[in-house]
Amino acid sequence: MCGGSSVRIKQTGVFGWDQFQFYNDRECKTCGALWRPAIPRWGAGLMIGLGIVVLVGAALTMLVIPANEKHVRDLVWGFSGLAAAYSIGYGVLALLGVCGQLGIRRGPRTPA
Ligand SMILES: [Zn+2]
Repeated sequence: MCGGSSVRIKQTGVFGWDQFQFYNDRECKTCGALWRPAIPRWGAGLMIGLGIVVLVGAALTMLVIPANEKHVRDLVWGFSGLAAAYSIGYGVLALLGVCGQLGIRRGPRTPA
């Protein structure tokens, strides 16, 4: 980001549902800048694909759950629906440039 060649991956531990990030934070060893890398386009595509896989998986699961087990079916749909919606939604929003973008957490140290 700042052009420093020595960068290390920093685990900041912010992986809440609303703080998902594709890569861990990066910290420049030279100037101390700390930033959150943007999600790559293939990463966003991957999340959309993942969501679709989850939906297909849920649909296939329906084939093996007896029709009278309504609460189980609802549970599976509920969980997969949420996971898929989140994954696909995040991927689409990332492609649109809404989320998952580069974020500067701490700027470069200015030389004293
Ligand atoms: Zn730097």
